[in-house]
Amino acid sequence: MSLSVAFDKLLGWFSVDMGIDLGTCNTLVCVRGEGIVLNEPSVVAVKRGTNRVLQNGNAVGWMAKEMLGKTPGSITAIRPLKDGVISDFEITEAMLSYFIRKVNGKARYILGPRVVIAIPSGITAVEKQAVLNSAIRAGARRVYLVEEPMAAGIGAGLPIVEPTASMIVDIGGGTTEVAIMSLADIAVCESVRVAGDDLDEAIINHMKKTYNLMIGEQSAERIKIEIGSAAPVGEEVTMEVRGRDMIAGLPRKTVVTSEEIREALQEPISAIIEAVTRTLERAEPELAADLVENGICLAGGGALLRGLDVVIANATGLDVRVADDPLTCVAKGTSIYLENLEEWKGTMESNLDEG
Ligand code: ADP
Ligand code: MG
Repeated sequence: MSLSVAFDKLLGWFSVDMGIDLGTCNTLVCVRGEGIVLNEPSVVAVKRGTNRVLQNGNAVGWMAKEMLGKTPGSITAIRPLKDGVISDFEITEAMLSYFIRKVNGKARYILGPRVVIAIPSGITAVEKQAVLNSAIRAGARRVYLVEEPMAAGIGAGLPIVEPTASMIVDIGGGTTEVAIMSLADIAVCESVRVAGDDLDEAIINHMKKTYNLMIGEQSAERIKIEIGSAAPVGEEVTMEVRGRDMIAGLPRKTVVTSEEIREALQEPISAIIEAVTRTLERAEPELAADLVENGICLAGGGALLRGLDVVIANATGLDVRVADDPLTCVAKGTSIYLENLEEWKGTMESNLDEG
């Protein structure tokens, strides 16, 4: 045992340790001792009708995201984790290996990296295995999997190893993960497929119904970020929106208000709130009691929606705070796992488990 620890340390001189937040919208990679070194959209450009990744060197990440909704006939841009499940294993693998190689290539280490990957808690055993295999094929020497809510909690600075309850609500693009943790373990959790993407979709539907105006996903996201809210906080504002008229078929613009966007967002926001209250109802009384003291922490990009903390506080009667820099909590959490890899690796699933 101690020999293997010493051996791993030795190998550490010749390789790099990476933490990966494999998100439905964004993938972040951090390197032990360096912090976050990569932050790109989880998007891949493929030849339409196939799952062949474009071979021109900019088929993944930022370049691919620019193509979303604007791709010419023969190309299509895909988010392979869009719904929190891996809809396409091959494309997910291509994306993961692109990111791992990009980071490892820069470092020019002799050995493959050890990698800690945060995965959604709702993922199936088959999907887990696919993530492990992809990372191995991408050159990783060892792969460890951690549950995303744990990584988010650690990254947000919650005392999740203490004998007290911590609650995290991580609102990503495709999924919202709600978990109550204590003693470095998840006591109750729920993963729902309602998150940032559904807010965008609610805005698209509102524009169709109210203005007969078709807008794209990127425009909808921009409206959400600029003037979206879950509760009236601050000044009400307006925004100019452009799209295609559904009847005339021609480009047109209109002006929307923050009030009507808030109204349009109500349904998906209620679904998120319900996931939070359902999880609270399933908690043991002692853990619930702790939460009266400790409150709830919001993470993920969705936590940045104005007033979301207010509506969750109103619905639960608990204190709610937004984590510092909620988009990077999970990645920061994986980097803390890296710092403690020797101690904690026994608690993580890894590619050594099968053998
Ligand atoms: P994932 O972990 O699933 O990749 P992220 O935590 O990266 O997701 O969050 C992405 C989501 O957060 C997207 O739906 C994005 O639109 C949303 N988001 C980012 N910034 C904001 C903001 N300021 N207000 C509201 N939503 C935001
Ligand atoms: Mg996430």
